[in-house]
Amino acid sequence: MEYPGNLFVVAAPSGAGKSTLVKALLELDAKLDVSISHTSRQPRGQEQHGREYWFISADEFNGMAARGEFFEWAQVHGNLYGTSRAAIEERMAHGDDVVLEIDFQGALQIKKLFPYAVLIFILPPSWEELMLRLNRRGDTAPDVIAERMSNAREEVAQARHFDFVVVNAVFETALFDLKSIVHAQRLKYAAQRRNRSAVFRALDLP
Ligand code: GDP
Ligand code: ADP
Ligand code: 5GP
Repeated sequence: MEYPGNLFVVAAPSGAGKSTLVKALLELDAKLDVSISHTSRQPRGQEQHGREYWFISADEFNGMAARGEFFEWAQVHGNLYGTSRAAIEERMAHGDDVVLEIDFQGALQIKKLFPYAVLIFILPPSWEELMLRLNRRGDTAPDVIAERMSNAREEVAQARHFDFVVVNAVFETALFDLKSIVHAQRLKYAAQRRNRSAVFRALDLP
């Protein structure tokens, strides 16, 4: 399948700062849109249906999966998460670049479907800091934190399959790194041919 825009996939162990970074990136970049996933997990803290996620039951989720309504889905920390076809297609149709905030299993499925997708892995600076951030966020129960910390080792080991790695130690630095990746992708020949078509025509470039 061919789309007009870029597709960025951001993965990280829970607590690394993925959502905070992507939110800040979207505020700076009007041409970027995030895909809202479906999940069977319960809303956490201030989360709202249709903003962070579409919160649905496991039965509804399995129905959507059986009908082929997801580009990818995976079980993560005991809950189901998926990227619906509608979530991506709707946003791509506007000509925007799209960011998926998904786990590594989903990221690798997306890379198979869309070889041009740009995979970015966010690393925490240390295990101690990851633990601190999960605790400081204050909306995750201790047993859930323990499960997420133990899954984090397996997740981090997948970073080598990604195109880019960003270490989120100093937030502003990590945000700058993310912006740089998005910017560089938009300067690729094929993207420039699309976005600067008048220049390409004037210069008789194919
Ligand atoms: P070329 O072989 O580099 O000329 O690639 P294309 O012209 O097919 O793609 C140009 C740009 O469109 C790439 O940099 C991608 O960002 C984007 N693109 C192309 N195909 C797809 C696709 O199937 N999915 C997504 N997400 N992006 C695509
Ligand atoms: P994720 O989406 O990866 O689970 P969050 O974006 O919810 O992670 O971040 C986890 C916690 O860490 C949040 O409380 C967030 O404010 C904090 N955080 C994010 N980045 C940094 C950073 N560079 N330094 C300190 N705290 C951070
Ligand atoms: P959380 O419950 O902390 O929001 O997310 C838990 C994990 O599920 C994170 O690794 C997050 O990236 C992942 N996740 C969120 N949405 C999706 C999705 O649509 N598909 C997949 N595969 N993973 C997702």
